[in-house]
Amino acid sequence: MGGQKRNLPDVLVIGGGPAGMFAAAAASFAGAKVMLLEKNERLGRKMSITGGGRGNLTNTASLHDFIKNIPGNGKYLFSVLTRFSNNDCMKFFKSLGVPTKQKEYGRVFPVREQAGEVVKILKEHLLTSGVNIHYLARGTELLFSGCQCQGVRTADTRTYHSKTVIIATGGASYPQTGSTGDGYRLARQAGHRITPLLPGLAPLCVADQQICRQLMGLSVTNIMLTLITSGGKKVDSEQGDIIFTHFGISGPATLRLSRVVSEQTAAGNNNQHLLLDILPDMDEGHLAGKLLSMAINQPQKSLLNLLKQLFPGRLAAIFIKTLQVDGRKRSGETGKELWREAARLIKHLPVTITGARPLAEAMVTVGGIETREIDPRTMASRLAGGLYFAGEVIDVDAFTGGFNMQIAFSTGWIAGLSAAEKAGSLIANLE
Ligand SMILES: Cc1cc2nc3c(=O)[nH]c(=O)nc-3n(C[C@H](O)[C@H](O)[C@H](O)COP(=O)(O)OP(=O)(O)OC[C@H]3O[C@@H](n4cnc5c(N)ncnc54)[C@H](O)[C@@H]3O)c2cc1C
Repeated sequence: MGGQKRNLPDVLVIGGGPAGMFAAAAASFAGAKVMLLEKNERLGRKMSITGGGRGNLTNTASLHDFIKNIPGNGKYLFSVLTRFSNNDCMKFFKSLGVPTKQKEYGRVFPVREQAGEVVKILKEHLLTSGVNIHYLARGTELLFSGCQCQGVRTADTRTYHSKTVIIATGGASYPQTGSTGDGYRLARQAGHRITPLLPGLAPLCVADQQICRQLMGLSVTNIMLTLITSGGKKVDSEQGDIIFTHFGISGPATLRLSRVVSEQTAAGNNNQHLLLDILPDMDEGHLAGKLLSMAINQPQKSLLNLLKQLFPGRLAAIFIKTLQVDGRKRSGETGKELWREAARLIKHLPVTITGARPLAEAMVTVGGIETREIDPRTMASRLAGGLYFAGEVIDVDAFTGGFNMQIAFSTGWIAGLSAAEKAGSLIANLE
């Protein structure tokens, strides 16, 4: 029995995304015998499309700022982000021959900006480290001996036994990349609870189809979006760039706000709207004065053409329509009151939204395996022996900027080291 056990892999990783690859790399670095199961025919499909295929690997933010950019249980990750930080991650990539560079907002990319190439290099590293990779191997059922997790059965009914198991199967967004929520089902078998799964980093759907049709494709920089729910309560706000689409709005500021929109929708609050402040850096009184003086200086100019001096034409047309004035009217023929109203509208353009796009279209899953049931220092299950978790399958999620990838790398690395250590202690116990 003891001999048989010694031939087992020390660590079995389920899922070959960034979390699973780093878990396997760390475990083998710690001297463990590692097996990695991936349901696709290749590793890291989602990782290959991050950062628009350029591979936004991490962010240079300080630990404090890093945690601020993780609205989904950021503080829970304090320990793993300290023990395997963004700097550790960059050093590791450098050691593999993947130098990185910093771009705006602290985002870190590989110098060659090819996420697919980084996946290939990681795979080569795993192979040269002796990791045994099985493709088209979809873990469907955990194997237990009492409370001890001892392996997994795959969809093709094969069984893979191991001293420890790491679930790194990702979330439930972009299922075409392989993350179809299998990890939640596996975790439930060990008694874990799964918090509600919602779309994070998703575009928002706008109720007024005419706005979408008129503004589709228009990008507007530096806008303030304020989310208002029924009763006029301000829930949250974000400043940044947006883009209008055929169904609503997208872009960095929208994506950041989408998590709160999803939570409101899940709480049954379907009456949400946004107030768009198109010129957040100018106060309303100042803007009204500016519009008035423009009108005084250019009295022959039509109202529409006057507004076009400040905004893209299509947006100016929306203002004219909402103000219910004739855009052809001369600016000199209007009174102060109109400019006050215009300034108010430019600072508070109301847009009714029907919610975020579905989870399948979100960049990240909000919710997942309940963090209280996972030891934050080791990523070990508190419910089953020998079981570990890494990456998006856990109830953690961050804003855009490389934070989600770093969560996968840090939790993966620590889960790998912890599982290897545990497997080592199991061997010692058998002797
Ligand atoms: C379009 C897009 C762009 C993104 N851009 C960025 C970005 O720029 N920066 C950033 O930080 N984050 C970005 N993200 C988020 C980031 O990609 C994820 O948070 C990260 O990939 C999560 O890593 P993971 O290893 O936990 O899961 P995944 O990357 O989803 O990997 C899970 C792996 O497990 C495999 N698997 C699933 N179930 C099983 C099973 N039962 N058996 C075996 N294998 C299984 C899957 O096939 C997959 O290979 C982006 C996401 C998307 C969708």
